[in-house]
Amino acid sequence: MRKPAFFLYLRILALGLIALHLQSCATNPVTGKSQLMLLSKDQEIALGEQSDPEIVAAFGRYDNEEIQNFINEKGQQMARVSHRPELKYEFKVLDSPVVNAFALPGGYVYFTRGILAHFNNEAEFAGVLGHEIGHITARHSAQQYSRQILAQVGLVAGMVLSEDFRQYAGLAQQGIGLLFLKFGRDDESESDRLGVEYSTRIGYDAHQMADFFGTLKRLSDQGGQSIPTFLSTHPDPADRNRKVDQLASQWQQKTSGSQYNVNRNEYLRMIDGLTYGEDPRQGYVESGVFYHPELKFQYPIPSGWRVNNMPSQVQMAPEDGKALMLLTLASGQDPAQAADAMLQQYQLTQISRSNETVNGLRAVSVLAEQANEQTQEVVSILAYLIEYEGRVYQILGMSYKQDFNTYTARFRQTMEGFRKLTDPSKMNVKPERIRIHRVDKDTNLRAALQEAGMPGNRHEELAILNGMELNQPLTRGMLIKVVEK
Ligand SMILES: [Zn+2]
Repeated sequence: MRKPAFFLYLRILALGLIALHLQSCATNPVTGKSQLMLLSKDQEIALGEQSDPEIVAAFGRYDNEEIQNFINEKGQQMARVSHRPELKYEFKVLDSPVVNAFALPGGYVYFTRGILAHFNNEAEFAGVLGHEIGHITARHSAQQYSRQILAQVGLVAGMVLSEDFRQYAGLAQQGIGLLFLKFGRDDESESDRLGVEYSTRIGYDAHQMADFFGTLKRLSDQGGQSIPTFLSTHPDPADRNRKVDQLASQWQQKTSGSQYNVNRNEYLRMIDGLTYGEDPRQGYVESGVFYHPELKFQYPIPSGWRVNNMPSQVQMAPEDGKALMLLTLASGQDPAQAADAMLQQYQLTQISRSNETVNGLRAVSVLAEQANEQTQEVVSILAYLIEYEGRVYQILGMSYKQDFNTYTARFRQTMEGFRKLTDPSKMNVKPERIRIHRVDKDTNLRAALQEAGMPGNRHEELAILNGMELNQPLTRGMLIKVVEK
């Protein structure tokens, strides 16, 4: 987790509600046809403007000037040749290992560092850039945004209120993917088309975009990565590849440029040193303890519980999904204020409250309940609000009232185990980084990875990262990606 962002969800929820009430007709900039729009152009821009800081707060930005300048330059260049050059576009890199790119209405485009790690040349990047700009210019997001964010975010915000929260522990496994929009199949195809058009117009070989779909397919087959937007609405990626390939050839015939750039070496040199995979500095679990090296705290996790570390919160749940603990940053200057804010936010009925000291830290514990009028079910909640280094941490433990006694001791063990992290070996963990390695003889990828000291159990992962098969021949002087701490 990082920085206060939990309340982001409620604000977006409110925005979504407003948006749903404001329907209007508009002309689609891409098709020229009039269509029913949920948002006017001004509202669309306002929605993007208001949501952008919250997306940035929730994920954090990945700080790399060279990459940032590159995506700005290409993004602005592409925006100028798009169907909506008048919008004010912004392009940002988010500090997330998840492989994704997405757009907000009004001109905001985001790439995760996870997707940047998986591109193998500038042309692949340009294809996805064009696809995302396409969602904006064809106004897909304006049509989809409010309803989707409402549904997905309501799940998080309404969790405490919901009788369905049993299922939540399972859903939490999808993690931050919940925040990403899913578009319909037609919208995705239209964006693919626009991605080909826009990337061709700025001089890139759009056939590479089809290759990148191959990388996404391999990632999703491997199962470890969630690929929320690109593949979920495309049951037939092979067909999608074929279409994009055809379109790329058509566009290259249409445009006058005789040469289309791929720029593999340029791209690889730019991402040399990029953080790869989870960044343990933002929290990790080791031997039943959650450590947060940046925020300098630790606490024990009940044995057998699953942990999902999201940018805005840490979720913990037992296998049976009958209880849930959430660690977030609280609003309020001190534990008492934070407790009041929490009771109000979730509309909880306080049963008792007491002042505590948790490993030398000032804290308030609250026992509360929430009754669901429709189902007559009662959710019981134990919360600790702990002040540490100028912040107030909120740990919520909840279950249905009938199960609560089963879990209270485990809740307390975690909450009362919250403490300052001082162990340097836990604090000085480092993430892995992409390193660009030059092959010094004619070989193949497998041998080159071996030569570079990459363990055999990671060869397949690295083959996907390189967009190659392990038996792919490499000639002397070629660049490949390896990973290093
Ligand atoms: Zn898309």
